[in-house]
Amino acid sequence: MKLWSMKLRPMKIVVLILAVMALWLNEAYAKPNVSVIRIGEHPDKTRLVLELSEAPNYRVFLLPNPYRVVIDLPELDWTVPENRIPDGRGVIEALRFGLFAAGTSRVVLDLKQPALVKSVFVLPPKDGRPHRLVVDVEPVSVAAFNAAPQDRLAVSSKQPLRVAQPAIPADVAPKAAGDARPTIVIDPGHGGVDPGSTSVTGLVEKKLALDYAKELKRQLEASGRFRVVLTRDRDVFLALRDRIEIAHQAKGNLFVSLHANNHKSRKIKGFSVYTLSEKSSDAEARNLATKENKADIIAGFDLSEQTEVVRDILIDLAQRESKNQGNQFATTVIDEVGQVAGLLGNPHRYAGFAVLKSPTIPSVLIEIGYLSNKTEEKRLRDPGYRKKLMSALARSIGSYFEENQTFNRY
Ligand SMILES: [Zn+2]
Repeated sequence: MKLWSMKLRPMKIVVLILAVMALWLNEAYAKPNVSVIRIGEHPDKTRLVLELSEAPNYRVFLLPNPYRVVIDLPELDWTVPENRIPDGRGVIEALRFGLFAAGTSRVVLDLKQPALVKSVFVLPPKDGRPHRLVVDVEPVSVAAFNAAPQDRLAVSSKQPLRVAQPAIPADVAPKAAGDARPTIVIDPGHGGVDPGSTSVTGLVEKKLALDYAKELKRQLEASGRFRVVLTRDRDVFLALRDRIEIAHQAKGNLFVSLHANNHKSRKIKGFSVYTLSEKSSDAEARNLATKENKADIIAGFDLSEQTEVVRDILIDLAQRESKNQGNQFATTVIDEVGQVAGLLGNPHRYAGFAVLKSPTIPSVLIEIGYLSNKTEEKRLRDPGYRKKLMSALARSIGSYFEENQTFNRY
């Protein structure tokens, strides 16, 4: 008996210390949480309220073309139920939120017209309500927007928010010396504050693209024939330019961007693959490229701070070659995928997609199917179908590199 208690005591102490450490770690690393989002319409302003578990530091600013309010916050957990996310009201047309960069969450409000920041403040907990961040914006004329002083266009908390910029992941491991395998860069479309398309049942393109990308990576790696790099491996925003930059840093030999499409007509369905051309093959492809190229705008990414999104190097000889190779790969993809999945009419199309503008890496953008079609949406959710579709794509990658031994440009 005595021996038991002698033995137990140190163990109890260890357990106690572990429990305290777990609590402390949880406290230290738990992200603040947003549980409620409200939009209120007032005669002179539109009010956005976020209910948070902590008083946040913030940065709020306005962007023109199109008019948007961007609210940057520390990285947050969003626990607002899907059916409690408010629709646009007042001057606010629509609202999005999500991870912008590691450490920074972002809310983007699309505006129906120009507006200015009226006030931004945080209310302390009261009457059972937690901390509340209140952002008031007031509609103004275009002239008033253009003449507005800086403090009506951008407001920050007293304690400055450390705003992280979307960055190329530092963990793209360099290719090992002597590794002669081709590098495949898989680019899951959208992410974080840019959700992409959404189906009626709430299936979101950014999540679907990531699931398919991970499955393709798994299969390619299992073959042992390829080195595989993902442009993003979690739900975070990534600028279009950075997707290409990652492909270059990784010394990619093939770039595959994965997306899911949407159409007004719910009947439209099928798999399609796009390669770069300044002349779109049809109006549909052109509209799609316009939509996909807007990802940075959707995420409230301030393009005025950037030089050109993608440098204009289209006439470069190297690009002409990589474009031919991209076209060749697209043909192989259609051949393989056509055996396991339904194809869109004219499944290989051309348009000016920003992510395909790498001068040296053969690039394709794949729309795996339509979220707007009920049957296809259901199929896209199915892990069995995902496996089958990605194994067809992996096979096409395999045969492309068998036919094309000139990949090694680096
Ligand atoms: Zn997309």
